[in-house]
Amino acid sequence: MAQTVQERIFQLMRRGQTMTRQDIAENLSLSMPTVLQHVTRLIEAGILEEWGAAQSNWGRKAKMLRLRPEAGDVLGINIGIRLIEFVTADLMGNLRQSGAISLPFRDEPDWYIQFQRALLDFFAQYQVDSSQILGAGVSFPGIIDSQRNQVVRSHILGVEHMGLERFEKALPCPAVFENDANCACFVERSAERDSYVYLSLNESVGGAVMLRGRLWMGDTFQAGELGHMILIPGGRRCYCGKQGCADAYLSPQALEQDGWETYLEHLALLASNLRMLLNLDLVIGGQVGSKIRPQMDTLLVKTAQYDRFARDVNYIFPCGQQEYACALGAARAGLEAFGSQLLHKAEMVVS
Ligand SMILES: [Zn+2]
Repeated sequence: MAQTVQERIFQLMRRGQTMTRQDIAENLSLSMPTVLQHVTRLIEAGILEEWGAAQSNWGRKAKMLRLRPEAGDVLGINIGIRLIEFVTADLMGNLRQSGAISLPFRDEPDWYIQFQRALLDFFAQYQVDSSQILGAGVSFPGIIDSQRNQVVRSHILGVEHMGLERFEKALPCPAVFENDANCACFVERSAERDSYVYLSLNESVGGAVMLRGRLWMGDTFQAGELGHMILIPGGRRCYCGKQGCADAYLSPQALEQDGWETYLEHLALLASNLRMLLNLDLVIGGQVGSKIRPQMDTLLVKTAQYDRFARDVNYIFPCGQQEYACALGAARAGLEAFGSQLLHKAEMVVS
């Protein structure tokens, strides 16, 4: 379906910059009268706002425009092994409200009823008007096939070929579903960093690969399954059935069992292998990633032992988003998919 002019302006402004009407005309190859007309409508609908003036050495300074962040909200949900996290994010993808409840996942009717109740409690707690939510993103610890609308497999939750219709029915708005590590990876993307590997060190270890601002999904949606790369041949039994997977050495439980010294040895080995394969930055996220800052020096020294190519290991970074990363990433995926619903809600003329 062809995008309307207003949708094109909306998507351009969603990238987060402020710009003048002239910038918009140039970026979208539109005439100034067209831009003026549509920008006026978007301002009247409360979707765009004027935000300062452009630098200029002569004449009148052009007014800058930006999206009004508070013009719309999206919902982000992370289905964990034990916990469910809920967040809302504004139009720019900034975290607004957050909450979590303990509700171990079971693909049974009763679970979806409890899930729905928990979501309503979250809305009530923060006085969120669910009819104003543009859409939702749901983060799930498994391989998602969005074309077939199913979870292909989640070892950790013990489901296979699970349809997502029951989830959709339990939500008050349209939703997109995404792998949890992909969601968390998404949150670390910025104008300065758009290509990196994200390592999610949670109860199940996962990862994702961001290439030039887009997630690399692979042929069968399994790219970045870093937890099941074999780190120690013949080593510890992994829940997936193999032996020696990174998951068995890099989960928070493994850290508790082994202590930092041994844990960092294993992490350095994986970090070095990933660097050899992709030659990209590595962002360390998940529960362990959120507390790894004091250990970074040791990790870099240990990784340097395996690196014969670089003088300094300067490509490993702790994650920026420490809490609610999966839920926030899911919300941003929801924003990407449903943000422009705002134009329909505001009954913008489609032209
Ligand atoms: Zn495994």
